[in-house]
Amino acid sequence: MRLDRFLSESTEMTRSLAKRALLRGEVEVNGEREKKAARHLASDDRVTWNGERLALVGLRYVMLHKPEGVECTARRGLYPRAMDLIDLPKAERLQTVGRLDVETTGLLLLSDDGQWSHRVTSPKRGCAKVYLATLARPLEGAEAERAVAAFAEGIELEGDEAPTRPSELEMLDPLHARLTVHEGRYHQVRRMFAAIGNHVEILHRESVGALALDSELAPGEWRELTADEVALF
Ligand code: URA
Repeated sequence: MRLDRFLSESTEMTRSLAKRALLRGEVEVNGEREKKAARHLASDDRVTWNGERLALVGLRYVMLHKPEGVECTARRGLYPRAMDLIDLPKAERLQTVGRLDVETTGLLLLSDDGQWSHRVTSPKRGCAKVYLATLARPLEGAEAERAVAAFAEGIELEGDEAPTRPSELEMLDPLHARLTVHEGRYHQVRRMFAAIGNHVEILHRESVGALALDSELAPGEWRELTADEVALF
């Protein structure tokens, strides 16, 4: 890898700032000052910037307990972005693995490993996502039974060509439902309940595949996944 690229990938510097740092003589390779941005590094070369040893940022895998009022986007907008809550170097490289609405809370994964993210979200895999929904209107008795059957069958959502894939609805009480879906359409859970004449007031994601939100994480808190957790997908 070229030295200027290594510097930009291992620090917060852009490539052009890295070139300037090189010209200012701030960078050493194996203890010798180096000014050439195009120098190719060998795997055992030791690079320091202002005396600090640098290492490449590897691939990162993060679970965030997403709070309300945070957006799953790379663009800066009205709300703070999920990546802004992650205090890791180069956090802006992390992408959310799928999306949750601004108001939705719960398990959100972020990673800079595109292939892994694809495995988690790929429609082919149909990875289960489990949500807890608080409803505006009680859903009980025969109406609840019809909803369970309709969701299991797949329902039409306004504007979508195909019905939803079969999903599992469990009523915890008339106002609280646990819904497991196997796809990730836009506003899917809210639209599913709207399709049966109800309204989701609060939505929280408990798990994605075999990975559940860590109960130690308060809203806004995050941690890196363990190697075993990464290997679940
Ligand atoms: N379904 C929704 O409607 N919203 C979410 O945030 C996630 C799933």
